[in-house]
Amino acid sequence: MTAYLITGVSVVGGEPTDLLIRDGVVAGTGRGLAADGATVIDATGLVALPGLVDLHTHLREPGREDAETVESGSRAAALGGYTAVCAMANTSPVADTAGVVEQVWRLGREAGLVDVQPIGAVTVGLAGERLAELGAMADSAAGVRIFSDDGHCVSDPRLMRRALEYVKAFDGVIAQHAEEPRLTEGAQMHEGEVSTRLGLTGWPAVAEEAIIARDVLLAEHVGSRLHVCHVSTAGSVEVLRQAKARGVRVTAEVTPHHLLLTDAKAESYDPVFKVNPPLRTAADIAALREALAEGVIDIIATDHAPHAVEDKECEWAYARPGMLGLETALSIALDVFGPRWDLIAERMSRTPARIAGLAGHGLDPAPGVPANLTLVDPAARRVIEPAELASRSRNTPYARMTLPGRIVATFLRGEPTVLDGKAVK
Ligand SMILES: [Zn+2]
Repeated sequence: MTAYLITGVSVVGGEPTDLLIRDGVVAGTGRGLAADGATVIDATGLVALPGLVDLHTHLREPGREDAETVESGSRAAALGGYTAVCAMANTSPVADTAGVVEQVWRLGREAGLVDVQPIGAVTVGLAGERLAELGAMADSAAGVRIFSDDGHCVSDPRLMRRALEYVKAFDGVIAQHAEEPRLTEGAQMHEGEVSTRLGLTGWPAVAEEAIIARDVLLAEHVGSRLHVCHVSTAGSVEVLRQAKARGVRVTAEVTPHHLLLTDAKAESYDPVFKVNPPLRTAADIAALREALAEGVIDIIATDHAPHAVEDKECEWAYARPGMLGLETALSIALDVFGPRWDLIAERMSRTPARIAGLAGHGLDPAPGVPANLTLVDPAARRVIEPAELASRSRNTPYARMTLPGRIVATFLRGEPTVLDGKAVK
């Protein structure tokens, strides 16, 4: 195992120091450490963050390997500064059995670029009718702790209650895609002025807010843990704020795109901007940014959703919803919040690692800590070229935008997965 001496690096925005990485852990910190045979990386001007952790990634394998594989998605993640991702269950077959979650977990280990932690489905086939084998998935080698029907809402309140009760025994989490399906039938975009003007069926904010309100009450009643996926409206923020004030065990995420892009993007009819939940208004964005800074929303999660060209480059009405996110998330966070490194580390690494229960992740580089970290060049600016992304898909909403920040290196347990901005394997 190679040792690395990273010199002149700012750890989470602090004064420049050196980091010695040896045997998979941070072996020492401080100026003037002896290299002692280690490979020296001059990190002057760079910032070290604990490796980013994504609670919401679609890796598409098994089933849609044309859009993404565990390996290609892992490479995209490493290039984005991630050392762990949670893989959503809406694959084909659905990850609703111990067999499928173990398959995804094993593929992640084989790729060896990030830790891939499978999320199990809440209901069989994501059909919302009966509970999947939650206990068997929890007991499997994959050790599943987060369950989600993401892409679909667990809309039956009785089923949602039972799922919350079931996972309480092993401190599991239900991650809800909050969308009351009866209120979003045929929806194409956010319901508001723009949808009215374009004549597209709207996805009203209340369809999200009503489910979150119901679910925080259910979680409170059961005393179980609820996580809310991709919060997108100002009203949802208020529901979460009240629930947290009462001590409900609820956490929530927001995506990079919901922090930056508005529903006005739909005016282009470019399906790259079609996503679920849809892009909302500037007022929603302002509320989401404030909620994230305050901690009412706990984390940024990408909802990285690769789609093959034929599923995306077609008429708006037929295009699949979803956007790429892993390779641009940190840049969007820097664009929105500036160099608030402690906030970024908290919302993109420490807290998601804690929610997912990923030991060894989300820890600031310090002696004895597993060397899961990423080095960022905050002064770099880059133009996003879809063809240059490591993902197998091209559906980034940031094509040809100039964004701040560049990932220079990522280490997983002391081994580089990215060096000089390029994937090592
Ligand atoms: Zn979703």
